[in-house]
Amino acid sequence: MKKTSTRLADGRELVYYDSRDDVVRDAADRRPLDPVATTAEIRRDPLLGDAVAIASHRQGRTYHPPAGECPLCPSRDGRRTEIPDADYDVVVFENRFPSLAGDAGRCEVVCFTPDHDASFADLTEDRAALVLEAWTDRTVELAALPGVQQVFCFENRGAEIGVTLGHPHGQIYAYPFTTPRTALMRNSAAAHRAATGRNLFDDLVERERAAAERVVLETDEWVAFVPYAAHWPYEVHLYPRRRVPDLRALDDAARAGFPPVYLELLRRFDRIFGEGEPPTPYIAAWHQAPFADPERDDFALHLELFTIRRTSGKLKFLAGSESGMSVFINDVPPEAAARRLREVASA
Ligand SMILES: [Zn+2]
Repeated sequence: MKKTSTRLADGRELVYYDSRDDVVRDAADRRPLDPVATTAEIRRDPLLGDAVAIASHRQGRTYHPPAGECPLCPSRDGRRTEIPDADYDVVVFENRFPSLAGDAGRCEVVCFTPDHDASFADLTEDRAALVLEAWTDRTVELAALPGVQQVFCFENRGAEIGVTLGHPHGQIYAYPFTTPRTALMRNSAAAHRAATGRNLFDDLVERERAAAERVVLETDEWVAFVPYAAHWPYEVHLYPRRRVPDLRALDDAARAGFPPVYLELLRRFDRIFGEGEPPTPYIAAWHQAPFADPERDDFALHLELFTIRRTSGKLKFLAGSESGMSVFINDVPPEAAARRLREVASA
């Protein structure tokens, strides 16, 4: 893997990740860009104690541009985009419209492929491995920035999820605090450790493997299952078989084993609702331990993949109980979801 770091015309950082070591990426960004003016501000809710990022500058962001004006395609044929080079493998750059910026953190965009019409599920195993290397390297780099407490790599896929650009891409948020969901998991793990002396994640994964009915896919390196209390209609949690706190700690065998497993899960997601359905909208979210947590080795890196589609043409909305009270109502029993995700395995 070759890494080439450069700056865009407005000073934002851009990093190319290439499979081949002899690739030269020296194209300059010649667009007349104004400096990025961000007003991202973190406010803490006094009742709930959680953080809200107020980011009013995002209202003017690029919204569903035509394919010919995609800012994530390479710069070609006289058209200049966010990526100065005429080609790339995987590229990461600072978001021009960040939800978090300055002391409030950092937001990055990850382009998985220069192919505008592809999706992650279409990537080769080599390209998926390169994306994993990019996620890992960003975790290393962002951990070194002052104030960053947690790095969140994720992909929103599909217009139903609110994706404003069709080009296959994900995002990385570097938060200056521990996020509420991570804090809840950490507290559960600490309580389990105090009560049993054991690791909660290990016990949970072993219980799912032993019960087997919600297991979707298992290899020597990874295991994927629908959790016992799944919140979403189709939700899969993917764990490395050897627990590690974050992407940086994955060993070579786990890295090598990731692409086929993840690509297969994504392909199955696109088959859940049958032929002729538009691609399944999903969120793929990496959970990593916060950096300053003294108990961070008790945390387990894992990926949570879920869709908001509950049946053909129908979305699960976060309505009164979910949005008003944080109580999820799931219409699809987790055991049935797991059965469906096994049925649609690749031949
Ligand atoms: Zn594009």
